Amino acid sequence: MNNWISHPEDIEARVAEWQTAYAELLKVDSLRQFTGRPVFALTVTNRHIPAERKKKLLVFTPHAHEPACNAACMNVVSELLTGKTMGGEPTDLERERILGETLLTFLPDANPEGTARAPVEAWDGSQYTNDEFWTWMRGVDPVTGKMWKRLNVWDDREEDPLPARHGIVYEQLDSHRYVEPNRHPESSLMRLIERCRGRHDYDMLLDLHQTEFVNSPHNCMVLLPCVFDELPESLRTHERAWADAVVAAWRQVEGASPIEHSEPLGYTGEQRQYFVDVWSGIYATTPLITIEIQNNSPRTPPELQLYLEQIAIETSIQLL
Ligand SMILES: [Zn+2]
Repeated sequence: MNNWISHPEDIEARVAEWQTAYAELLKVDSLRQFTGRPVFALTVTNRHIPAERKKKLLVFTPHAHEPACNAACMNVVSELLTGKTMGGEPTDLERERILGETLLTFLPDANPEGTARAPVEAWDGSQYTNDEFWTWMRGVDPVTGKMWKRLNVWDDREEDPLPARHGIVYEQLDSHRYVEPNRHPESSLMRLIERCRGRHDYDMLLDLHQTEFVNSPHNCMVLLPCVFDELPESLRTHERAWADAVVAAWRQVEGASPIEHSEPLGYTGEQRQYFVDVWSGIYATTPLITIEIQNNSPRTPPELQLYLEQIAIETSIQLL
């Protein structure tokens, strides 16, 4: 896995190195999780050219059990800053033009504590069944031994029984409370996105994820916002064209099997409401699409997971 960097300690070391070597191209924002690890927002642009004229993209990785997203962000940032992939190959990106015309912000890992607690750096499907993987994701139910609950926020003084092992998807907020980062405003993810949006008026937001594609012949898809059907036509047109462009780019990749027609995120009830509560202000103003690449399956090895995430990022940059 030549180009793969996803562990928080590797990301921290690389960011520190880049901060010194590429100060004119990189601005690092960060906040610290309750458990102590820094969460980074890496803004890449030619800082000699005023930001007002540039098109702007914000890319983020909410979930700690989806490390190909971290790796793809780091690889794209490496190519833009150094001209080389993480593995040292020359980039094929139009670096100078991208740095001059765009401002790109990456949150490569919004929950590094979760990522650090994962038993593997990449989920390749060789060591854990999906049932086991899901117990790493949400925690182990001590009664059934299966996956624990999905909650936007929980408090260890109120839940009974508590998970036998805490799920890595949750971010610890204080001594007792835990949140799923993209479902709660106090997560590092949402706080850092808000800070970034306060600094720059982003034209597009790209939400990177992975999922298991159980009983599906596909291994990549774009999801539109859950409120897509209620959005103004200009946003719907933009998001539809963006989704179609990503799918078209995936179609060229050996081993990729995209879902051709992108649909809105299909959650209902409580899970949908979490999204509406946290994201509706963003959905109403800014084009946003969600990427899902297969996780924990030999059908989509880590190199391909990374590559498909990276294609989604690069296609988005081209569309700015
Ligand atoms: Zn996810």
